[in-house]
Amino acid sequence: MRWNCKDKPMTKRTENDWTLPTKLVRGGTMRSEHGETSEAIFLTSGYAYDSAEQAAARMSGDEEGYVYSRYANPTVRMLEERLALLEGAETCRIAASGMGAISTALIAPCSAGDRVVAAKALFGSCRHICSTILPRYGVETEFVDGNDMAAWEKALSRPARLVLIESPSNPLLEAVDIAAVAELAHKAGALLVVDNVFATPVLQKPLELGADIAVYSATKHMDGQGRVLAGAILGRSEFIEEFIDPWLRHTGPAASPFNAWVVLKGLETLDLRVRAASATAASLADALVEHPSVARVHYPGRSDHPHHAIHQKQMEGGGTLIAFSIKGARAEAFRVLNALKLVDISNNLGDTKSLACHPCSTTHRALSEEEQAEMGLDESWIRLSVGLEGVDDLKRDLMQALDAI
Ligand SMILES: *Cc1c(COP(=O)(O)O)cnc(C)c1O
Repeated sequence: MRWNCKDKPMTKRTENDWTLPTKLVRGGTMRSEHGETSEAIFLTSGYAYDSAEQAAARMSGDEEGYVYSRYANPTVRMLEERLALLEGAETCRIAASGMGAISTALIAPCSAGDRVVAAKALFGSCRHICSTILPRYGVETEFVDGNDMAAWEKALSRPARLVLIESPSNPLLEAVDIAAVAELAHKAGALLVVDNVFATPVLQKPLELGADIAVYSATKHMDGQGRVLAGAILGRSEFIEEFIDPWLRHTGPAASPFNAWVVLKGLETLDLRVRAASATAASLADALVEHPSVARVHYPGRSDHPHHAIHQKQMEGGGTLIAFSIKGARAEAFRVLNALKLVDISNNLGDTKSLACHPCSTTHRALSEEEQAEMGLDESWIRLSVGLEGVDDLKRDLMQALDAI
């Protein structure tokens, strides 16, 4: 069987009717003439042609087919097909990292004179692109409090090109009402980009809620086993072909076919892993609330979360992350982290191994104290990414660490 860029998976006609677990295991699979059951890794940068005429036709686009792996690769294409299917998107493109994908989604559609409106609570590098990089190229950016609908209305009373939000947000797991912001964004002529890393496509579907573009760090839950970096952009074909494809082709943040393969295999267990880790997280959040050294717990699945109603409306379940604050400040938070015996101290997340970090001194250290305060963040907060260890082991570890202060 000869493959080319536009090859549809063999089962395309029935794929859309599959439930999520089936899409995750079988979506986008293309088999070679060898009939392999596991997706093949095409670790190749180039492609050979049957004739000089064919080479010319491929390069001119008259004949469909692979020409160079900076443009497209069969293993990467399988991952793109699988992700598009599970997100319900027309088209997906993979990049070498989450930021490779998100920076492309933000920069490629903008021209000097455009406006970008973003929520304040963003992943650090996303915030840096909006606050520092885009303005250097003549793109004006404005930050709003993601939960203040009046602020969104005011910011989007003027035309804008893009709106960027993250829900649940990092690190305090705040909710932004995706459907409501989508409506305002569209009135302003803007495209809504949602960074859906924390929710994963298992628990939240931004495109169904009205977003135009969903972006992911596949490094997190999609690989889910802490091995490779990758990112994804999902949206309408017209948008991807006009803005995203030329940018990816000519600037070159292409994912390694090997890394794409690792993510493909990771996706097969995404539903199982996310649901299991979420069940553990819900149980740990309940236990944390009871500990006398804990001041506050932010878990989207708990009814005492300040934005529980919005989370409940748009997200299924509470997810795999918990933020909790300790009675005290940096010294007490550090003491708890240093007393952990099972949970690792790491700024990564979405791993099978449970990981905890102190956002103020690590992931969010680039923000000024004022910017941190605007987000409701202070030195007392710890972010916990819940993995797949036994719930009793994790509970025991957290409780003994909290007892240390
Ligand atoms: C990790 C992360 C990113 C960046 O992804 P990389 O794969 O590390 O480049 C972007 N947004 C969120 C919410 C993340 O957690």
